[in-house]
Amino acid sequence: MKSFFTPHQEKLLNKLNIHNWFDLLLHLPVRYEDRTKITNIKELKDNTFSQVLGKVTNVEIIFRGKRNLVVQIEDAYGDQISLRYINFYPNQKAQFEIGKYVLASGNIKKNLISCQIIHPETIVFKTQEVVLPENLTPIYSVTSGLGQKNIYRLINKALDFASSKKLLNFEILNQKSKTDGFNLIDSLCAIHRPSKDSDLQKLNNFSTIFHQHIKYAELLSQQLYLKLSKDEFKNQKSKILNLNNNDLKDDIFNSLPFKLTESQEKVIHEIESDMTSGKAMHRLLQGDVGSGKTIVAVIVSTLILNNKYQVAFMAPTEILANQHFKKIKELFLSTDVRTELLTGSIKGKKRDEIINDIESGKIHYVIGTHALFQDSIKFKKLGLCIIDEQHRFGVKQRLDLMSKGKTDGYQPHLLMMSATPIPRTLSMSYFADLEVSTLSELPKGRVPVVTKLVRDSRRKELMNILKYELENGNQIYWVCPLVEESEKLALSNTVNTYEEFVDFIPKEMVGLIHGRMKDQEKDEVMSNFLEKKIKLLVATTVIEVGVDVPNASFIVIEHAERMGLSQLHQLRGRVGRGAKKSVCILIFKENLSELAKERLKIIYENQDGFLIAENDLKIRGPGEMIGTRQSGIPGLRIANLVEDADLVKEVSDYSEVAIKANKLAAQRFVEIWFQDKNYLRI
Ligand code: ADP
Ligand code: MG
Repeated sequence: MKSFFTPHQEKLLNKLNIHNWFDLLLHLPVRYEDRTKITNIKELKDNTFSQVLGKVTNVEIIFRGKRNLVVQIEDAYGDQISLRYINFYPNQKAQFEIGKYVLASGNIKKNLISCQIIHPETIVFKTQEVVLPENLTPIYSVTSGLGQKNIYRLINKALDFASSKKLLNFEILNQKSKTDGFNLIDSLCAIHRPSKDSDLQKLNNFSTIFHQHIKYAELLSQQLYLKLSKDEFKNQKSKILNLNNNDLKDDIFNSLPFKLTESQEKVIHEIESDMTSGKAMHRLLQGDVGSGKTIVAVIVSTLILNNKYQVAFMAPTEILANQHFKKIKELFLSTDVRTELLTGSIKGKKRDEIINDIESGKIHYVIGTHALFQDSIKFKKLGLCIIDEQHRFGVKQRLDLMSKGKTDGYQPHLLMMSATPIPRTLSMSYFADLEVSTLSELPKGRVPVVTKLVRDSRRKELMNILKYELENGNQIYWVCPLVEESEKLALSNTVNTYEEFVDFIPKEMVGLIHGRMKDQEKDEVMSNFLEKKIKLLVATTVIEVGVDVPNASFIVIEHAERMGLSQLHQLRGRVGRGAKKSVCILIFKENLSELAKERLKIIYENQDGFLIAENDLKIRGPGEMIGTRQSGIPGLRIANLVEDADLVKEVSDYSEVAIKANKLAAQRFVEIWFQDKNYLRI
């Protein structure tokens, strides 16, 4: 299916996690806009989405700290609105000739003095006779270089392809009453090309019957995948490992500055008994943020290393892989164990060397990102795969890594770690293929994080207060709003906030980190933060998982109302990692919906990730917020284990029936969903 995109498109699409035609279909609109009508400029309301039509009366580039392109348009009643671009291409100005007509849509910013749209979507016409779209306009999350129009075109191509080849007619879905009457392609069309009369609110909430259908199908694919893999996995053998004479373990123990908690001791014991049982381990280690999972993983690794096998430790982000690498390297410094880092940005000769040394067995412990599963990488004797923050990886990816290590019919052990607070009721059915160990306590001496809610209008005031916190030796994270649709906007938010700070705080004390920076730059910023050279770190949600800077005791999260609760809990978990009293400030926008208020109340009142998840489940309602959809549950793109809890149970039961009734059909469905014929690799 390579010809589906050009190599250039492919590269950009990969950033959005799209790798094939099927992924395109599942790249659902994040919201919709109604561009089928025009509003008079006079009647516009602040903070609403609207579309206006006007004649260009002025175009200029003005300086507001940065160059801004401002286009003034006037409608038939003589009212004016400005269209403002903070990021623009030089040729963008030329298209707005004076006298031409512009159809512009976007979020209206209106107050007593001005009325404007920032970064509107526009179409320029020569005359006033404009053609309005017939359908609602889907808005997708995009990446720079690949805008709304391009992605829309590609998705439509994929829809046509799938329907002409009848690729998505699954009997397995038709057996359920919920999905009666239409097949997957019908639902996808209804979502990607919604007619004018569709229910806009339901579409925006992901709660149409079509969304339900897709969620159902997605959950089913996961359940089938897990259950089919479990069947395969049951009889996998692993080399019996010897527990005795583990000097390495003693070395590590002796170098630890703390004593393990009882809970840590217990799970280490569980994992060790698995690994010496002769069967391949397939275990999930779950424990709330900050419960000390990393050290457990390192300690159990010694058993593998001591038996002359290799260990692969995978983290979802480069920042986290770097952090783990540094810690693990340090821990093994006085031993013969050779540790190495392998991420996507290690290239050229260095990369080749590392790959060779993994293959020849010279490297014993490799820490990395998903770069570890590339085909070019072969292990000499892989004994254990550790997957940190496993919910960030798809089910398929985790199995990919395992298949690498299989030698002489023996399977490496698999240890997955996760802090995703999945309510207990759900984890039973969801982790159908795994054994589960739980870290039930936090290390001693931790002081609970104090959470405060602050209105957006007090943002500036808060920034000034932080100055004093810095003077008192505290380190601070400032997390900028997440913008689902555009990485670029998220970036400009972060950069702007950084600039606001360096206006009144010495520049060398303030750091900036975001996903677009090079690995090395990110690493440098994180090290400077860890070494207390940087005192205040302005960040996107790249710091969300795993980042461990124990001295940081303050975190501010902007637009908290847009984030999922598990994400907020993860972010808050960046502080309170040392003995210092820590504070988490959640900034929210005024006029919150009732549901948003209730959600913030949950995070305000609870510290325990599992309780947060269970409470979230209780108040779950249709008013879903941005962010919760991507709260990071194993490989799920659309369904959400918390919000779709009742579906999970139903799907889980049905998946067993479906496999019994027709295993081949179940396999075919999974193959299409994961676009992989060899999905069962174990
Ligand atoms: P998580 O479970 O979120 O991955 P980490 O493994 O990053 O947590 O551990 C959080 C912090 O707690 C680290 O700085 C780690 O060194 C520290 N830590 C781990 N175990 C203990 C313990 N038993 N006593 C004190 N501190 C610990
Ligand atoms: Mg961690």
